[in-house]
Amino acid sequence: MSDRPAVRRSNFLTDIIDADLAAGRHSRVVTRFPPEPNGYLHIGHAKSIALNFGLAQQYGGVCHLRMDDTNPVTEDTDYVESIQFDVKWLGGQWDGEVRYASNYFGKMYELAEALVLAGKAYVDHQTVEEIRKNRGDFNTAGVNSPFRDRSVQENLDWLRRMKAGELADGTCVLRAKIDMASPNLLMRDPLVYRIRHAHHHRTGDTWCIYPMYDYAHPLEDALEGITHSICTLEFETNRELYDWFLDQTGPWTPRPRQYEFARLALGYTVMSKRKLLQLVVEKRVSGWDDPRMPTVAGMRRRGVTPEALRDFADLIGVAKNNSMVDIGKLEYCIRQDLERTSRRALAVLKPLAVTLTNWPDSTIEQLTVPWWPGDASKGTRQVPFAKHLIIEHGDFAEEPAADWKRLAPGREVRLYGAYFVKCFGVDRDPLTKEINGLRCSVDLHTKGGTAPDGRQPAATLHWVAAKTALTADVRLYDRLFAVEQPDADGDFLQHLNPDSLTVLQARLEPALASAAPGDSFQFVRQGFFVADAKDSQPGAPVWNRTITLRDTWAKPAAPAKPAARPAAEVRAKPAAPQLGEGHQARLDWLEKHPEAKELCTQLGAEPSAFAAFAQNPADLEFLRQAIAGGARPADAFRWQRNELAGLLAARKTTTPPFGGKEFAAFVRLVTDATITTGAAKQLLEHWCEHGGDPLALVDHLGLRRVDDTAAIQVAVRQVMDQHSAEVLRFRAGEAKLLGVLLGAAMRAAKGADPQTVRATLLQQLGE
Ligand code: ATP
Ligand code: MG
Repeated sequence: MSDRPAVRRSNFLTDIIDADLAAGRHSRVVTRFPPEPNGYLHIGHAKSIALNFGLAQQYGGVCHLRMDDTNPVTEDTDYVESIQFDVKWLGGQWDGEVRYASNYFGKMYELAEALVLAGKAYVDHQTVEEIRKNRGDFNTAGVNSPFRDRSVQENLDWLRRMKAGELADGTCVLRAKIDMASPNLLMRDPLVYRIRHAHHHRTGDTWCIYPMYDYAHPLEDALEGITHSICTLEFETNRELYDWFLDQTGPWTPRPRQYEFARLALGYTVMSKRKLLQLVVEKRVSGWDDPRMPTVAGMRRRGVTPEALRDFADLIGVAKNNSMVDIGKLEYCIRQDLERTSRRALAVLKPLAVTLTNWPDSTIEQLTVPWWPGDASKGTRQVPFAKHLIIEHGDFAEEPAADWKRLAPGREVRLYGAYFVKCFGVDRDPLTKEINGLRCSVDLHTKGGTAPDGRQPAATLHWVAAKTALTADVRLYDRLFAVEQPDADGDFLQHLNPDSLTVLQARLEPALASAAPGDSFQFVRQGFFVADAKDSQPGAPVWNRTITLRDTWAKPAAPAKPAARPAAEVRAKPAAPQLGEGHQARLDWLEKHPEAKELCTQLGAEPSAFAAFAQNPADLEFLRQAIAGGARPADAFRWQRNELAGLLAARKTTTPPFGGKEFAAFVRLVTDATITTGAAKQLLEHWCEHGGDPLALVDHLGLRRVDDTAAIQVAVRQVMDQHSAEVLRFRAGEAKLLGVLLGAAMRAAKGADPQTVRATLLQQLGE
């Protein structure tokens, strides 16, 4: 996949391939990466790309890029283009042209007719609800459709009428005729085709019936000669169906086989395309390529390299069990790669003026400083040195602590690539009394950073010359979410890290003016920064911090990190979490407002986020009323802050057309499960726009939840029985396992409303 030596991976997939090749089942490995073009690729996809393209490369085979575009409604050519760009950028070289599932619509249809002719498929006129109901559940076998035993000719006629566009959406479907009593619910006569009079981004209006994923996917693989079809674990139960369709339509040479591996889940972010889309649509981020997004486009803009992402994929390997990967591993790979490839430059983020009283007023000396420390052979640049300098505000302490090593009155430090300076005076703003400048002397015998007498200052500081320094926007990015599992408890938006972006006006050495968009540098002692590819202007780059030099989030008892950490990192003391600028101010505010603080505790809200909200008295009062009105405090807060505030902002107002008490009635509709979360959002929007009584609106808008709770209850109970060990561990405090249980429950209760499944699971877990 790249010019670096191929890594020889060894995992359960290579074991399978080795065995296949040894047994002569295949002579060549053909894999595929099949994204659905309904969003931008994210780091989970990057792992899948590394895996599929990597295996093909390792075995001298090929990998296809296939747009899985069988769903006409959600797909878009913008996504198709971004996907190709991202795959290429990651180093994936696909075999031949980009392939499209829609290219095979003709062949898929032919095979569907063949299934009908063989008596293996029938056209069913039951409604979707009837089909779902008659499918039964884990305890009850399904009920055969009254249309199941139609004649072949009749089925063929109906299928052709479906295809010819004679029938409206939802009139009927084509179903495979398998076994309505199968223990695998997916095998109970699954849908093959449905009618959808929708325009497709590639086939236009040629088709008004579209194949279902479970039918289309194995055929796409078989038609392309894929040998190893690798997908994520949630498709494990679909494998039986995958094989059934291939057996009924074959023989196929080669005969593809499906293998499942654990999908990548990363802490402090969300990965589902639906949630990422929500962040974009609700403008919580600036777009799919916002540098805080886990998308490939976002990470590229953030300055993450394709090498780092591939290293990460190799580091975590492939597993059979879903688990959360420590984001520290990704950050480790990013640092390692940038450490190797980035030039060092000087930039001051929070300036403090320094005057060198013994330097001539108008002399500017051009120092030649290597881009790589100690290695001038890889290039140097000129760095101007002058009487008026700027250093980092935090590098000076008027009353230093015992172990302070940097600048202080009477102390000497080395300026990077320049001279030793010593502080003898402090200037203050006459009004605020804040320190606004230092007076220092420079030792002219220390040019280049060494003293004739061999003395060594305890610190080397970065600096720039005031007159020649550029002023540039520097964006400090931090994790998008403040907690490791933002989607563990329903509403991921409440966990957004309010300090995930801080923009500073920084002062940079002049050589950085010529940085090209996408160029990365290590700003000495600050971290890795990249010239933003979108917002930089010629001669005036805007900078994004890719990552700090060391892990500022590390907990004192952090889990074991990979062995080969750079020495600097091993020595680094684990620092307390450094959230951005406003964080401390908000915490201080909360301390001064005990009532708000108490409410915050009661809500279990993140203090800084809550303070940001509570600083507006009207909002706080509204919340109090909602709570007094009987809404669960945490829910009232969530709905007010995450949903209501956005709707009001969109209407350019801050005052809702109803009071806190009425809002409480609305919140209770969700908490007592009268309506789903999605319906509640619709309701709230309508209510903000038109006013009225929320209870009446539920029925007026037809939002009352349809009840399939009994089936969900059964599915959840079964999952809990099958996972009794996990249930015990969860109850003993391993909160992480909720994800595992929920995943299993979702699979079991396929098609059910996710919120209901979650609520049922939590309830049965006794939460
Ligand atoms: P989402 O659930 O976010 O919509 P998806 O699985 O539907 O993602 P696709 O575009 O269908 O997204 O995925 C393309 C390929 O990438 C599939 O083979 C899928 O298995 C793989 N993939 C998607 N997400 C992950 C992940 N988190 N880890 C590893 N592989 C993934
Ligand atoms: Mg998918």
